[in-house]
Amino acid sequence: MPELRGREWDYVKECLDTGWVSSVGSFVDRFERELADYSGTRHAVATTSGTAALHVALLLAGVRKGDEVAVSSLSFIAPANAIRYVGARPSFIGADPATWQLDPERLRAFFREECAWREGRLVNRHTERPVTAVLAVHVLGHPADLDAVQAVADEFGLPLVEDAAESLGARYRGRPVGGTGVLGCLSFNGNKLLTTGGGGMILTNDEELAARARYLTTQAKDDPVAYVHGEVGFNYRLGNVQAALGCAQLELVGPYLEAKRRIARAYAEAVEDLQGVSFMPTAAWAEPSYWLSTILVHPPARLDRDLVLAALERSRIQTRPLWEALHESRAHRGAYAYRCEETVRLAAQGLCLPSSVGLSEDDQRRVIDALRRELVE
Ligand SMILES: *Cc1c(COP(=O)(O)O)cnc(C)c1O
Repeated sequence: MPELRGREWDYVKECLDTGWVSSVGSFVDRFERELADYSGTRHAVATTSGTAALHVALLLAGVRKGDEVAVSSLSFIAPANAIRYVGARPSFIGADPATWQLDPERLRAFFREECAWREGRLVNRHTERPVTAVLAVHVLGHPADLDAVQAVADEFGLPLVEDAAESLGARYRGRPVGGTGVLGCLSFNGNKLLTTGGGGMILTNDEELAARARYLTTQAKDDPVAYVHGEVGFNYRLGNVQAALGCAQLELVGPYLEAKRRIARAYAEAVEDLQGVSFMPTAAWAEPSYWLSTILVHPPARLDRDLVLAALERSRIQTRPLWEALHESRAHRGAYAYRCEETVRLAAQGLCLPSSVGLSEDDQRRVIDALRRELVE
């Protein structure tokens, strides 16, 4: 459940009292300005969802029908779907077992060994499709190795897009996520760190791209009055009521992050001595948000991941398996995949633990006790 303990009610009431409930209104502007400040980017454009933000960001990065976009195979499915919305295909790259994120070494090896230059374009030799962008997803509140990924993207002349939907508040070498690539995306879905009910954001330092984002998300209207449209746009603009919720939520981002980090610390300590259980890694250069505390259950644990999940379910504790490896998803069957063996292992062993900001210490103690009961003989 999302936590709505701040000024949400006041701000939403202000929308209702003033009649500004639609996609024009002061909260939309304010939410954009504040998110840009928070993320350290010059511009932010609010959208109806994180998936919509990704759709438009990929178009703005120049991805076209028939292209391929290199993306990690360990992620929630939304970024892979957004690649398909523009008529492109994902080339799934294996996750780095040390970080669970897009592996810059695998990415470089894919470009060097599996792609070739044809008429100035980098082409995947297995599919004959040009690879035209890199999409780095910062999964589970931990940043991808941004400098390393950016260096690979630069080496091959590709734009980097960041999907920071799960990692608002996380920092990479001190920098907020979402502002390193040419474009970054956020989500304010109900399960994310901050929620607007549903919503997203496109981040960029490029004024022209920001203007294009604004244009494409509002039906590509060329004239403020007349119905003149320069191209096929989208109705992806966030509403003022949602933005009002977002402004109130952003005021709480500090305590929310503190809660996520406290929860993660307690889980990490609780499983430290358990054979066959590992808490999610934290890279030396990362300051994660710990959006979703996740463990791996692996040999020599007494039970496998699915049995642990079922046992906890019987104690009325809801956990979730980590996502299926995207190259094995029926939705993306047949997609090209490069060295995804670690992704498959993480997908089979990963268990996401209750991590909501509202989780009390007593509730977490109950989760930890049940987990230890199942895993300690
Ligand atoms: C949640 C999520 C999205 C999509 O956000 P929506 O607002 O739900 O459309 C995109 N990417 C990742 C990695 C996500 O976890």
